Amino acid sequence: MSDGASLGYTGDPNLFRSLPMGIFRLSAKGAWELIAELTPSESHGEAIELSQNVSCTLGNACLITDANPSACALLHIENPGTIAMAPVASVFPEDTLRLFADGLYRLFQGQKAIAYDGSLTIAGGGEHQVAFNLWQGESDVSPDDVYLSFWSISERISLEQTKDGLQSDLARSARISLLGEMTASIAHEVNQPLGTIVASAEAGLRWLSRDEPDIAEVQQLLERIAKNGKRAAGVITTMRALASNKKSERLPADINSVVEEAILLLRTDLAKRQITLRLDLSSNLPSVKADKTQILQVIVNLALNAAQAMSDGHAWNRTLCIRTRRGIADVAVEVEDSGPGIDAHVRERLFESFFSTKETGIGMGLAICRSIIEAHGSQIELQSTPHLGARFSFALPTEQVQTDG
Ligand code: ADP
Repeated sequence: MSDGASLGYTGDPNLFRSLPMGIFRLSAKGAWELIAELTPSESHGEAIELSQNVSCTLGNACLITDANPSACALLHIENPGTIAMAPVASVFPEDTLRLFADGLYRLFQGQKAIAYDGSLTIAGGGEHQVAFNLWQGESDVSPDDVYLSFWSISERISLEQTKDGLQSDLARSARISLLGEMTASIAHEVNQPLGTIVASAEAGLRWLSRDEPDIAEVQQLLERIAKNGKRAAGVITTMRALASNKKSERLPADINSVVEEAILLLRTDLAKRQITLRLDLSSNLPSVKADKTQILQVIVNLALNAAQAMSDGHAWNRTLCIRTRRGIADVAVEVEDSGPGIDAHVRERLFESFFSTKETGIGMGLAICRSIIEAHGSQIELQSTPHLGARFSFALPTEQVQTDG
């Protein structure tokens, strides 16, 4: 309960009738007598924490001597006579009755006006949430008169509840979409190494079950299994780092060896799709400062997309070219294909999460690539020519520049 400004109303009958807010005039004579008799323990001294019983007694001792038309309308009272001389306690639910009694006690103690929010019980059932103002008539003219005004705040409360609801819905959907993106990203990225692991294990078993097991072949397959297992673990580490905004580890890296590592992982896929690989790697490149595992992930993603674009379409010449070249203060990596290229309408949405034109695509690959490259302070560029292919490229700052800068 807080102090509120009094309306300054002391009994002008015209004003009393015409105000748009509900007003009761109450006779507090019996209530004043009761409060005067209150022992300190019942009133809890200054804390004015009245018990429910005392609140009830005070509410019943305060009688409604007049109610303006707005009050009757708000309470759905057709005949004002029915409420005349009724105890004010009859229009309050328990909580509000206690607030009213506290207010009355504070008026008795000399406070000028009290404001608080509570409820009114409507005739015929239901409640109205209202803001109350309680103040006393002029002490020399009508010391027993107390005025209680009230107006509906249901609309304000329902707006606040809608706002709160919307906010928590938003927070929840943001969490769900982050979770969804994480799950989809992991599924997207781990699918390829897992597929390779299963295929290699099956091939290894076949080599072993021959009359003369080929141990060298099995050894190679086991190495591939280990590599892809590590890659899957690396993917999960990257995803966790991206989701938690954790800064990844940037160490000097030789970009050509990252490309070569990516090729080792993609070899089987490329062969299956009958794709020719052209490597155009500049020699004597300076080291870049990068998270190797993440850059490996970007190159593998871009190359896999390129391979899929060439095999999904009707490209007669299936060539994947991966290029590295030196820039002024960076090293650029290009992944170019001879596929169908990318339509303008696809281009607009290319990097959106969950955007895919593939039947079984998840649409997270390029979104992840972009996050990784942006986290390295760079951008992914795209050049595309209809029917001739697409080229994705990005540049990583050289280590020298980073150290000097
Ligand atoms: P997904 O591979 O699951 O579809 P991506 O985010 O990796 O998700 O790719 C989004 C879309 O971008 C693809 O569905 C495809 O339409 C388009 N795309 C990506 N790379 C190429 C490319 N090299 N050539 C043609 N279209 C591509």
